[in-house]
Amino acid sequence: MGEWLYLIIGIAVLVVATTAGLLASGRRKTPPRDTTGVISSTTTQAPPGTSAEAPVETPVETPLEAPAAPLVERPEGTASRLVRLRQRLAGSQGALGRGLLALLSRDRLDEDTWESIEDTLLTADIGVAPTQELVDRLRSRLRTEGSQADARAVLREELLTLVDPSMDRRLQVSGADGQPGVVLVVGVNGAGKTTTVGKIGRILVAEGRTVVMGAADTFRAAAVEQLVTWGERVGVDVVRGPEGTDPASVAFEAVKEGSARGVDTVLVDTAGRLQNKAGLMDELGKVKRVIEKQAPVTEVLLVLDATTGQNGLIQARVFSEVVDVTGIVLTKLDGSAKGGIVVAVQRELGVPVKLVGLGEGADDLAPFDAEAFVDALLG
Ligand code: GDP
Repeated sequence: MGEWLYLIIGIAVLVVATTAGLLASGRRKTPPRDTTGVISSTTTQAPPGTSAEAPVETPVETPLEAPAAPLVERPEGTASRLVRLRQRLAGSQGALGRGLLALLSRDRLDEDTWESIEDTLLTADIGVAPTQELVDRLRSRLRTEGSQADARAVLREELLTLVDPSMDRRLQVSGADGQPGVVLVVGVNGAGKTTTVGKIGRILVAEGRTVVMGAADTFRAAAVEQLVTWGERVGVDVVRGPEGTDPASVAFEAVKEGSARGVDTVLVDTAGRLQNKAGLMDELGKVKRVIEKQAPVTEVLLVLDATTGQNGLIQARVFSEVVDVTGIVLTKLDGSAKGGIVVAVQRELGVPVKLVGLGEGADDLAPFDAEAFVDALLG
């Protein structure tokens, strides 16, 4: 009887031990969880066929898709945004054209009237020299063509000449020899630089291009986070570094990452602390030089806030001394009647306005079109 009891207890112990063992091995099949949430881009996003390299030495990281990635948006194409934003441009700039037309339509264009025309143009920030040129042209044309002349048509033609439709306003977003195009975006803090990088990213995505963004404004954690959010919304990865990292190293890694992935364009946001001009010179110059160890910079866009008037022109001068600006982005044209700054800044730098910001919405950035701009002015 005692032997039977020992035998039953023995079998029971064996069954319990086996079951526990199976459960334990089943649990081990679940992979360990990644607790960092941030994985080095070079080790995880290497394209198929390339060997997994050693982790990058610089502390630059690319956030991978979070487990609960937000839905990727489909940004608006450029054709439809032009139609939509034309209205907004007419709303903010129309008063200038209406004011000029009202003055030019007077029966007698006396000296007082011409002075008022000059004042109207100066108030719109067109600048002293272009204002004088325009007034001279209008005076002589209206004198020779007489009262038969259609003041509106003459004004349209002369404004268009000032804005210069012959300038090449295409963004250089493509590289050569299999390298990505590199767009460096510069400007003072608050001009709308980070927002503009995000918005350009959306334009490129809408055009079916592949993009990587570099958050080289490493002095402002908020700017980095802002850019990451812009990227996430359209499925674009952002290369970033810890706060205070050398901006040039982040820019370098972004372009390296873009080249490794074979993307079309790398967009690089930069810091814009104008307080220290010498420091800014060093920093931006270095960012550009370091990037060009990887691939040539194809476009340097200067972002200017249209509401800042003469201050914007001074900034433009400083930045153009530091880097070769190839295009201007005028932001906040929706909130300012000073569209004349388009003419003034193009004159100042000799480079075209390529894009205009017309609102805080994600797709409120449009290619600049000289004719559409003048038509919006004239209402
Ligand atoms: P950054 O400091 O130069 O990077 O400037 P941000 O990109 O952070 O922009 C500063 C502010 O300007 C933000 O509140 C933007 O929403 C706003 N902003 C940028 N572009 C435009 C624009 O075209 N129109 C309007 N109304 N606001 C803009």
